[in-house]
Amino acid sequence: KVVIFWFRRDLRLDDNVGLTHALKSGFRVLPVFIFDTTILNLLENKYDRRVDYIHQVLTLMNEQLHQHGSGIKTFHGTPSEVFDTIATTYAVEAVYCNHDYEPDAIRRDLSVKKQLSEKGIAFHSFKDQVVFEKGEVAKSDGSPYTVFTPYAKKWKETLQINEYSVSIADNGKFVPMPPEQIHSLSAIGFQKTDMKFSKPSPDESIVKNYHLYRDFPAMNLTTYLGIALRFGTISVRQCVDFARKHNETWLNELIWREFFMQILYHYPQVVNTSFKPQYDFIQWRNNEEEFARWCEGTTGYPIVDAGMRQLNETGFMHNRVRMIVASFLCKHLLIDWRWGEAYFAEKLNDYDLSANNGNWQWAAGCGCDAAPYFRIFNPTAQTQKFDKNLEYTRTWNPDFELAVPIVDHQAARERALKTYGAALKKE
Ligand code: FAD
Repeated sequence: KVVIFWFRRDLRLDDNVGLTHALKSGFRVLPVFIFDTTILNLLENKYDRRVDYIHQVLTLMNEQLHQHGSGIKTFHGTPSEVFDTIATTYAVEAVYCNHDYEPDAIRRDLSVKKQLSEKGIAFHSFKDQVVFEKGEVAKSDGSPYTVFTPYAKKWKETLQINEYSVSIADNGKFVPMPPEQIHSLSAIGFQKTDMKFSKPSPDESIVKNYHLYRDFPAMNLTTYLGIALRFGTISVRQCVDFARKHNETWLNELIWREFFMQILYHYPQVVNTSFKPQYDFIQWRNNEEEFARWCEGTTGYPIVDAGMRQLNETGFMHNRVRMIVASFLCKHLLIDWRWGEAYFAEKLNDYDLSANNGNWQWAAGCGCDAAPYFRIFNPTAQTQKFDKNLEYTRTWNPDFELAVPIVDHQAARERALKTYGAALKKE
């Protein structure tokens, strides 16, 4: 008999809680990855850096496992099809994996668990992608926090009491396998991209100075670990250890990540609706032509266009600029935050449902801990503060001087205040 370890967003062999438990089970472990067609078929663009990233990581892990006389078995299909195949090919004792808190993933896991239990196979899932999950950091009455500052305070207090440890399984054994290749990218319908995977680790000098430079997009001094945390190629515990040693501000960013994950877990309705329901009365203009100009970076607002072009060309955008472009879309153009969120979801290499949704709702003003709606980012003032010498703007948008603004700032600001004000009166 064997046990399966099902990799999902935890693509690493070290400090992987579910994998450690599988290796300690006493059975040989068969590592499995499913190229899930329910997810991949939704991606219209087959040049997708994230799929390429996953593919590169799996290729490397497969080679590492060859050194143990084993490997990763990849499958292409739906989890339910794949587990039917697996259960007829191997004598499976149990399937191990790590928790995933997205509503679709929770539904998927429940259904796989049921399917397996009908075959007499156990399903074991563990906390791995966060330090604290679900209700572990809650108010004294047990209800979830919806404001970041008290959440972060409680998170840090909880850490003093519940230290985590790195999970190590020295004695476990993998299922012996002849060295095989994993599915090729083309076999799953995707193309090679310019993405280059390298083993992620926090850069000490960036993290130490994070609080000083993180807001200046031209300096490029953030860690770029978003994609690694998204796909679990780095352990969050390793990052938190590093943050505690070197920088409180960076630690807070990691806590924001967990804050939004627990929001999504407790309030899954935020996927489609505003956390503050009255914001769904806003009469969005939703002008498609203006949306297209925002997407392609031709609004005539230099910093907004620079950000969108950076995103379109690289799959990354600096956080400060993400805030500016998101506010511009919702407030200046009065386009529904869900449109912007969906565009980011398609383009961002580090796209993560909880962080993306949480931050978009924050920018639109409708989120759990959002800025008040009447605080409207002025792109020109933001540029003076954070890109004074126009270094970032020029890098991504060199012809900005020729552009004509899509709206007048003052007029757009007044229109936004009026429209938001009207919606909130209906409460
Ligand atoms: P660093 O600045 O070095 O921070 C380290 C890590 O902390 C990040 O990789 C991320 O995991 C976490 N983090 C940092 N800021 C936030 C935050 N505000 N909320 C949640 N986690 C955070 N982040 C995503 O990971 N995925 C997204 O889809 C995403 N969408 C966003 C959409 C908008 C409109 C905005 C304003 C922000 C979004 N962010 C998102 C948050 C933030 O912009 C990115 O995490 C950050 O820019 C990634 O750069 P980095 O990896 O260099 O992170």
